[in-house]
Amino acid sequence: MHQLTLAEIARGLADKKFSSEELTKVLLARIAQLDPQLNSFISLTEDLALTQAKAADARRANGESGALLGAPIAHKDLFCTQGIRTSCGSKMLDNFKAPYDATVVAKLAAAGAVTLGKTNMDEFAMGSANESSYYGAVKNPWNLEHVPGGSSGGSAAAVAARLLPAATGTDTGGSIRQPAALTNLTGLKPTYGRVSRWGMIAYASSLDQGGPMARTAEDCAILLQGMAGFDPNDSTSIDEPVPDYSASLNGSLQGLRIGVPKEYFSAGLDPRIAELIHNSVKELQKLGAVIKEISLPNMQHAIPAYYVIAPAEASSNLSRFDGVRFGYRCEDPKNLEDLYKRSRGEGFGAEVQRRIMVGAYALSAGYYDAYYLKAQKIRRLIKNDFMAAFNEVDIILGPTTPNPAWKLGAKNSDPVAAYLEDVYTITANLAGLPGLSMPAGFVDGLPVGVQLLAPYFQEGRLLNVAHQYQLNTDWHTRTPTGF
Ligand code: GLN
Repeated sequence: MHQLTLAEIARGLADKKFSSEELTKVLLARIAQLDPQLNSFISLTEDLALTQAKAADARRANGESGALLGAPIAHKDLFCTQGIRTSCGSKMLDNFKAPYDATVVAKLAAAGAVTLGKTNMDEFAMGSANESSYYGAVKNPWNLEHVPGGSSGGSAAAVAARLLPAATGTDTGGSIRQPAALTNLTGLKPTYGRVSRWGMIAYASSLDQGGPMARTAEDCAILLQGMAGFDPNDSTSIDEPVPDYSASLNGSLQGLRIGVPKEYFSAGLDPRIAELIHNSVKELQKLGAVIKEISLPNMQHAIPAYYVIAPAEASSNLSRFDGVRFGYRCEDPKNLEDLYKRSRGEGFGAEVQRRIMVGAYALSAGYYDAYYLKAQKIRRLIKNDFMAAFNEVDIILGPTTPNPAWKLGAKNSDPVAAYLEDVYTITANLAGLPGLSMPAGFVDGLPVGVQLLAPYFQEGRLLNVAHQYQLNTDWHTRTPTGF
């Protein structure tokens, strides 16, 4: 039963082959048995899950239907869940029970989804390896000595190991697409403003976006349908109608113009990954797509620009964690300043403190123009590159990551080495564009992802291309040994 996709679960529930309660019990038992190897959950919500599953079964018995009615999922632990710990992977929020549900959580619950728990993540979503979590590193089910990617590494590892069919993630610079690539999943970062950020604990507000992680594009369509939509509580939410994503899956790729940026195939890319990307291009050509070489000339500036903008916004967003209103407070503060300093010094981990310092520095008087403003100008140039490219092509294709999953600890002493792994993903966040990663093969037994980018609000096009690719390939069906 644990091998079923969301789409198969929906059919099974509709055909009364099993109930949501039965399925939920099977998956909870599987998590209890296997998750100690992976550490993909921070909190399990067994009681809530069983209550929601029974309620979903009752709704079905009353004639209701829906692809998410009774479907088991989990939330990355930065989506606020009422009365349940919402830790953001940090000691700072280890004792924080959210007083309300994030919009995404509320929408999925209303659609009948069953929440099995909250998944592990890099502290405050800062990282690409899921090693900065206060709750310990997450392991990659494809090789337990390797990282699963981050920051949504818990969601990725859990879904890849068939502990559940799908989970939510968030993507500020690649945190849905990169862990999806490193664990053989399909993950979609929607257009900025497509999914509400209300109740999603902020890292870098102008870049953060929630989205689905699952094994297939078909399942991402189902989960995105439940997450997307205008939310008056989020001032950056966009009031655009939500299309029927599942209905967009079956379009023909005949004549689809795919742009492959020449800058993507530079020295930093593992040549074995380059070969798999070329294979995926050939596969799409067979389906009727037309390939065109394009150029994104400002891509080389993306990492420095991102690693100014994201920490700058983080330093501002994280100033609210002061030991006064919520979260961790140090013991016996001597005075107010001591309370601030020690609560933040003890509550935040090393990577978070590093980012706060970089961000505060970039925003400080005298350096603002040289760093922050300059980075914002680069951001615009990167967006302009994409706008020019999308005049000529419908989709941009390339690798999701330059390397497969690295060994746990391998990049711990050199944060910049980890930042470089984000080279292909961060441009979509800087421009606000939707992006998807899907399985494209293996290198040394470790999964490799191919990334697709589309113009604003063309999530349906991304899902369509990925679904057609998955109908003709079987990479996404491979299961890690032992799971
Ligand atoms: N790896 C990037 C960072 O550390 C992206 C993280 C994310 O998307 N949340 O900032």
